[in-house]
Amino acid sequence: MSENILSRKSLSQKYWNEHTETMPRERLDAVHLRRIQKMIAYAYARVPFYRRLYDKAGFKPDEIRSLDDFDRLVPTIDKKDLVEAQQLNPPWGEAVALGEEFNLFRFQTSGSTGLPMAIPFSYYSSHHYGEQWVYGFWGVGLRPHDSFYFAFNWGAFAGFWSAYWGVRRLGATVYSGGGLSTELRLKQILEYKPTVLLSTPTYALAMAGKARELGIDLAKSAIKVTYHAGEPGGNVPTTRRAIEEAWGAKAYELYGVAEIGAIAPGCPLQLGVHLAEDQAYASVVNPETGAPVREGEVGENVVTSHIQFSQPIIKYRTHDLVRLVKKRCDCGRSWILYRDGVLGRTDHMVVIKGTNVYPTAVETILGEVRELSPNYEIHAAKGRIADELTVKVEAQPDYPAERYGELKARAERLLYERIFVRIAVEIQPPGSLPRYELKAKRFFDHRKE
Ligand SMILES: [Zn+2]
Repeated sequence: MSENILSRKSLSQKYWNEHTETMPRERLDAVHLRRIQKMIAYAYARVPFYRRLYDKAGFKPDEIRSLDDFDRLVPTIDKKDLVEAQQLNPPWGEAVALGEEFNLFRFQTSGSTGLPMAIPFSYYSSHHYGEQWVYGFWGVGLRPHDSFYFAFNWGAFAGFWSAYWGVRRLGATVYSGGGLSTELRLKQILEYKPTVLLSTPTYALAMAGKARELGIDLAKSAIKVTYHAGEPGGNVPTTRRAIEEAWGAKAYELYGVAEIGAIAPGCPLQLGVHLAEDQAYASVVNPETGAPVREGEVGENVVTSHIQFSQPIIKYRTHDLVRLVKKRCDCGRSWILYRDGVLGRTDHMVVIKGTNVYPTAVETILGEVRELSPNYEIHAAKGRIADELTVKVEAQPDYPAERYGELKARAERLLYERIFVRIAVEIQPPGSLPRYELKAKRFFDHRKE
């Protein structure tokens, strides 16, 4: 009979779920509408926060008859709204739908108000949260015989746990690197021979730096894929190239929002990330006005979860900047593509002479200059007329210091040719900018100082 749950034929399938991943747009939209209607009715009936919000907005759930009605009538919400609602009736608060007995996982994330935001999940929602990772894993050829090294600690952050749920769902091996030093993790990677590294992009580079110090060639390890989340980078050419070269592996990214899910696994062709459209709906708005932007323009991602029934997430402003593309991707998926992944945070966007500039765009352009390293900082300051940007970036170690002036001129010219604004570049010697373990701080805002 069956020697494995997955037969040989199914292991060779290109998609984890071909039916949903390649569904034509009209059918996807029909699924969205049906699920949104169900979620709105559910939230209105079960969640005091949403009932108050929708009563104030003056509509009843049965008035949402099209996606257009949804986009037009339903107000957006923000992290601070959920945090406030949670304070009203602790520990779960008034943004939660079910009774405490159904909320089986409780995570938290830092809130913009300084208060932590509680993130409850039921087993049902956590199962789907994990499944979103599997779409990404499967798409890049990972299978149950692969083994995943978790290069992070097991704290209160939902994203890490969801990756674990994902690997369980795939049926692959888990190696936990929790609570260990970088050096011990490297040792385990050489000893256990995992085939996949899960980490933030910054930490993958920090590990590579440590390995170099110790004389370890990671390209000779068994790692063939590195999979990243937690910050942009997996889709930013410089960072990705640095990771791939150091690890001798292919690097992919998943875009998740702790309180919503691992909503967008990476495109196998590394064109960006795809919204898992069987589990979430998204639209993109101008972060200032809230008005929808044209397809292909950069704006703020607004997401509705189809699976978060513990603490429903309906039209949630993520503050993440994305460029949304709807046409079917070259990888075969009909799901929305966020081209080049997450481009930054809305509060990191700087408007210079009417042009929106965001950090990953600068990083992407600088990535074309091979003599520059992926270690950089962007400083925004108030100029006399408009905001001004300065980029500090380290040269590669083998680049001669006496030619920094030439490199600076080349980088500044390239930025001007591509974004049409003048951005000052300061070339720094290798090792002069701070290194980060988990997430890098790239953006420094001096505009309000
Ligand atoms: Zn794709």
